[in-house]
Amino acid sequence: MRTMIAALVGAWVSIAPTSAPEGPAWDLVSDAPTVSVFPERPVQGHLFRVRVAPSPGQPLAAVRGEAGGEVLRFAVDESGVYEAFGPAPIDTEGSLRVQLVAVDEGGGEEPITIDLEVVPGEYRHERLSVAPRLGGRLNDADAARLAEDQAKAAAVARQAHATPRLWTDERVMPREDRVTSGFGNGRIFNDEVSSRHLGLDLDGDPGDVVVAPSRGVVALVDSFLLAGNIVYLNHGGGLLSGYFHLSEALVAEGDTVAAGTPIGRVGATGRVTGPHLHWVVRVGTTSVDPRSWMTMPPAEGSGAGDD
Ligand SMILES: [Zn+2]
Repeated sequence: MRTMIAALVGAWVSIAPTSAPEGPAWDLVSDAPTVSVFPERPVQGHLFRVRVAPSPGQPLAAVRGEAGGEVLRFAVDESGVYEAFGPAPIDTEGSLRVQLVAVDEGGGEEPITIDLEVVPGEYRHERLSVAPRLGGRLNDADAARLAEDQAKAAAVARQAHATPRLWTDERVMPREDRVTSGFGNGRIFNDEVSSRHLGLDLDGDPGDVVVAPSRGVVALVDSFLLAGNIVYLNHGGGLLSGYFHLSEALVAEGDTVAAGTPIGRVGATGRVTGPHLHWVVRVGTTSVDPRSWMTMPPAEGSGAGDD
């Protein structure tokens, strides 16, 4: 049975599918799980939250899903509700397809397809009249090192996908400081966006402490060519975060951190013009605006809010 819900969905209210293109499927609506998405219309480059609630007396054994090129990693709470974060990739135009499969206890599978309307992000673009040099050409040794760094970051993404959810709704900013460069701003050359700022820059003086925004495990402490001294945190459920240009790390790989645990100090290592924190948040390898995580309201009725 294929369930198609066009242009969804309420905030954290139950969603009765009001317009079902395939009528007969909804004759069984009392058996259908209830899907809710927050925000109803995600913004380009932001996280969104998907919840799948079983219908009464029809518990679910599992929920799988995919959106924006990433697998959605669902966790189940004590009331049998499944929940995952998904990314709306920054280059999404128009709508984003979310494909879910709800598995009942008998092993029966119900595919659910949702097309979310994606709101354009307000990103600033700098128009260039000469080709960007992308920080200068890399020599062969640097190019090889960059590829190595990227492979290590990709390994962290795989690890985050393979780890059960660790993040909770208790969150803090890694630094309470001024945003010096927002997420998603780009440069345009020949009408093409040639490069994007896929992190959030927070101001800081060398030595200022950076803390973990939420629960996780330290996945990588290293020194990268462009990013300098880095710490990557694996928050599980596909979610990871990275902290670049640090003067030093205050954690070691394998350490468990909670919201507020000091993990490093602001620095100016790697390719930077001055000290600041470049903070990245990703679902797998898809970068999202870290602020869309920090401002995500706790799930209603989940009891997950620790604050
Ligand atoms: Zn940055």
